[in-house]
Amino acid sequence: MVRVINHNYITYENDIRSLLQAFFPGQQLLWEEDDAAGNAPGEVSPQSLTVDVDAICDGCDRSEDRFIDKSLIKRVLYKHLAVMTGRLLPWGTLTGIRPVRIVEMMLAKGLDPDAAREEIRELFLVSEEKLDLMFSIYAREQEVLGRLDIARGYSIYINIPFCPTRCLYCSFTSNPVEHWEHRIDEYLEAMRRELEQIRFLAGAAEENAEDLSAEAAETTAGARLPGRNRIADRKLQTIYVGGGTPTALSAAQLDKLLTMVEEIFGYETYERTLPENGSGGRGTRKEMIRRVPVAELTVEAGRPDSITKEKLEVLRHHGVDRISINPQTMHQKTLDLIGRRHSVEQTIEAYRLARGMGFDNINMDLIMGLPGEDLEDVCETLRQIEALRPDSLTVHALAVKRSSRLSTEGKAWGGVARKGLDDEGMDEVADMTAMGAETAAGLGLQPYYLYRQKNMAGNQDNVGYAAHGKECVYNILMMEEKHTVIGVGAGSSTKEVTYTSGAPFEKTVRRFENVRNIGDYLSRIGELLERKQTFFEDGAPMPRR
Ligand code: SF4
Repeated sequence: MVRVINHNYITYENDIRSLLQAFFPGQQLLWEEDDAAGNAPGEVSPQSLTVDVDAICDGCDRSEDRFIDKSLIKRVLYKHLAVMTGRLLPWGTLTGIRPVRIVEMMLAKGLDPDAAREEIRELFLVSEEKLDLMFSIYAREQEVLGRLDIARGYSIYINIPFCPTRCLYCSFTSNPVEHWEHRIDEYLEAMRRELEQIRFLAGAAEENAEDLSAEAAETTAGARLPGRNRIADRKLQTIYVGGGTPTALSAAQLDKLLTMVEEIFGYETYERTLPENGSGGRGTRKEMIRRVPVAELTVEAGRPDSITKEKLEVLRHHGVDRISINPQTMHQKTLDLIGRRHSVEQTIEAYRLARGMGFDNINMDLIMGLPGEDLEDVCETLRQIEALRPDSLTVHALAVKRSSRLSTEGKAWGGVARKGLDDEGMDEVADMTAMGAETAAGLGLQPYYLYRQKNMAGNQDNVGYAAHGKECVYNILMMEEKHTVIGVGAGSSTKEVTYTSGAPFEKTVRRFENVRNIGDYLSRIGELLERKQTFFEDGAPMPRR
């Protein structure tokens, strides 16, 4: 337990809390809210540490500029904690989700890359290794995003909140698919109404308004004209079907979903040459592909045990560009422990099946710091991934979220859940992520997107590596909040991005959350559509950059 005294810097409480959590992972912070009023500080054992933020930061120079002032306070506190614990953090004082945005901000101030690097090193005490990562990812993002006119576009995220089982570390909206089987058609129909509303708001409905379903027309018609909302005339650029596990749906349900998307947003057809059969044979054949006209269409298949040839055929027929087959680890003992209920063999089979069927952009997700795994386990996993040669690899550090079983049942998991919480463990997780980067480089995959979360093992990060041209544009758009992403389905989030000036980081981001509970989503879909329409119509139209 760490007892914290902080009355003078309450305005930065969240940042100070995150920094303390990074130095003391897994330890309870006992925040002494009002010591001056004589309140008891709570139960403090003799082993408790005390961090007196007021005393540590007393007398340091303050700035009128909130950004400078906050970074100064955090820097003073960081240096004190580094001495106190004998530990340096790879990300220095940075505790936010999007470190790459800091690079963008510095360069937009007119600094050249060397000066920007120096400024970030000075202000945030970031390690050289992470500075390299930030700058290389920034450059790669610019290159990838330069392929699209993102300011005039928007993306859609379709949430399929069903999974075969719930993983130990999961904090997403995930429900056992067998419990909802009888209502999945209803779920797809509710999403149809959301998608129709988007098409209407984006303006494409003008020429096809009569095609809208009666219910959606009722919600979206009337005095509210498409030209007056914030996504009017925007072009749909990427679609990401995630979850949950999209391939928890049956082949027929997946087909229904993707056909629905094409009916609403239009489609193009083209002929594609594909391997003769699913086993990667030498012969080829032609297949007609029908595809919604977007720059990128991803279906995060996810769990290997939910992937079948029939489902992959559906995805291929609808022109899905990118799929994800996520092992997380190639160790059966860990898969069993974390409740994935699939085998290592199923991962390999699903991957080979997809490759043999002509999928040429396959991502694999891995997690570093999983319960019970050491560096040797991770090396073995990486050796197996190397042999498969995916087109992209996403290396996550385990983040223990409050709503996950790993957190709520924390005591039951005891020692196995504590990877990365002490010095040795933190170094080991750092070595694991470094090994992941090395393996990716060996496969010709370069880092292209990055984000961080609270309570990450070893205070590390999540990094996506991809071969040139195989990056997931949606991941960058969504993570860096580059343009509006509209969430569809239970538990999805919408982020409406409005640029307030020509500067890439000067923007406002408004959020709209769909209800998480599937039953509520189905019964309140009409109300949700009304609220969402108001959300997009409220305020001035989005200015163009
Ligand atoms: S597959 Fe993903 S969404 Fe489903 S339970 Fe596991 S972590 Fe959660």
